[in-house]
Amino acid sequence: MIRDHFRVLKVDLTTGRGQVETLEGRDLYVGGSGLAAVLFQKYGQPAAPWDDREQPLIFAIGPLTGYFPLMSKTVLGFKSPYHNQYAESHAGGRSALALRFADYDAVVITGQAPRPSVLAIGSRHLKVHEAAYLWGMDVVTVGKFLRRKTPGAGHRSILRIGPAGENRAAIAGINVDTYRHFGRLGGGAALGAKNLKAIVIQGDGSFPLPAGQDYAKLFGEVHRQLTQTQMMQKYHNLGTPANVAVLNELRALPIRNLQETSAPDIAGITGERFAEDALLRNVACAGCPVGCIHLGYVRLRFHADHRYYFRQVGYDHEPIFAVGAMLGVTNCADVLQLIDMTEKMGLDVMSAGVALAWATEAAANGLIAEEETIVPLAFGATKHYEAALRHLALGSTDFYRLLAQGTAKAAAHYGGQDYACVLGQEMAGYATGEVFFVSQALGFRHSHLDTGGYAFDQKHADRTVEQALDFLLQDEQDRVLLTSLVVCLFAREVYKDSLVAECLHSLGYGTLAGQMAAAAQKIQQLRWHLRLATGFDPHQISIPKRCREVRTWKGPIDPAFLATLQQRYAQTITALAGGAPTHKAGPGKGPSE
Ligand code: SF4
Repeated sequence: MIRDHFRVLKVDLTTGRGQVETLEGRDLYVGGSGLAAVLFQKYGQPAAPWDDREQPLIFAIGPLTGYFPLMSKTVLGFKSPYHNQYAESHAGGRSALALRFADYDAVVITGQAPRPSVLAIGSRHLKVHEAAYLWGMDVVTVGKFLRRKTPGAGHRSILRIGPAGENRAAIAGINVDTYRHFGRLGGGAALGAKNLKAIVIQGDGSFPLPAGQDYAKLFGEVHRQLTQTQMMQKYHNLGTPANVAVLNELRALPIRNLQETSAPDIAGITGERFAEDALLRNVACAGCPVGCIHLGYVRLRFHADHRYYFRQVGYDHEPIFAVGAMLGVTNCADVLQLIDMTEKMGLDVMSAGVALAWATEAAANGLIAEEETIVPLAFGATKHYEAALRHLALGSTDFYRLLAQGTAKAAAHYGGQDYACVLGQEMAGYATGEVFFVSQALGFRHSHLDTGGYAFDQKHADRTVEQALDFLLQDEQDRVLLTSLVVCLFAREVYKDSLVAECLHSLGYGTLAGQMAAAAQKIQQLRWHLRLATGFDPHQISIPKRCREVRTWKGPIDPAFLATLQQRYAQTITALAGGAPTHKAGPGKGPSE
């Protein structure tokens, strides 16, 4: 019943045609991150720029998707507009389950639609619809339109971009089913470059579940653990916004462009405050019994009838940090207003918030004139930030167009590099210390989820390079297995190796269950190989001065420890990839290179 190969739908947008291919290697490459890497190796153009029309966009799911809960992510493998190198971005929503019901382990999209279009796929159909009338629409409006146009909510997933993606902003994301995103590293621009406004995946097929009691019993046990452990309850209750107060207490919350790491006014945007003042309800990715997605609301005035309406807006720690703490916006309603604007424009909220935080300081230092920013940028000025987010997505001036390519590129032009909070890409919301700074700056996705560097900083007062290095390598490898299985990383404490092996066995993947560590190691190496083959040089990454000026609960940053760890991690990555970088990036090359 279980396939030992991958079933891949390959779509050529130029011709509007597709074909299903099979690919061997399930026991070696698992799915998700591993499958995306193998497919990029097969179809990617390492030396060509990110917007070459033959560059593939790869969406991949895992072997347990649809069979066990929280196997809910889809991995997007692509050449990133942000740094012109191979990259991954992950999203949940209904995307993974829709692909499972459509009977594809992966979809590979190449070519370029002749005109703005929507790609519709299902188990028995593929159509590239011309949709010029959607071009220019914001994400909320296009979502409403496509839900009406393509009824059948069940296992349907809608991926869409806003004006930022159309304008090829390197900080544009892809919205997935309204509340989830392929947020980071410019997936929105990659879709826009293919003239794709949206992808509608119709999960219109079915798949059999294993017969007998064993699978049902195991499913029940997994479900029990996911719903009854304290850790998962934490994600449901306050959710990740609980981190805001914790990090503020630890002096590890980036505030006002990381000028501070703790401040009393943060009390206005803690998870507790959001729950009191703004929380409407929780929702969940398809098939998830946890429901960590917290929805607040923004109030909208409809002038035609003088009435107010409410729109639901998802919030997490990361958006609160990025357009709240980093911008000195310390009121829940204002933060939700700014998140709503990033959603509509299709911007990655983390990059957009951190970029505007840098711009605010640079403007205060006289590096950027108000005619460039159009509105005066000042910490706490919500209305002006709302306008600035719009200008950022639309590219209203040369300044905004450059900033939309990444903060480091703007800082290289205007100055202010010392306080451009870029760690490979705009930083995540954890100023916990040296290990986090190195882990995000050099991490494969430049994501706080590449490794638990932020947690390591919080647990270890001592600073030992070997211990930190061992942790980064092993934790990355462990997470590579999880992201190849496409487990939601919030469930990493539940899906330990023994339980994952049981799940794989129950579906007939016994060989893979017996060689999970070897598979993870192989995928880790392959991903780094692709990264270096597309131009990444970990030795050229810089960590901004502002990060070295931070004081955390451990005291000041130790510059010698930071530098040694950075150098040793870069050496290790190069060795993992199989040697020195093989290809220097062309146009659009990385911000720190
Ligand atoms: S825990 Fe949250 S992010 Fe993870 S699958 Fe459930 S709803 Fe989605």
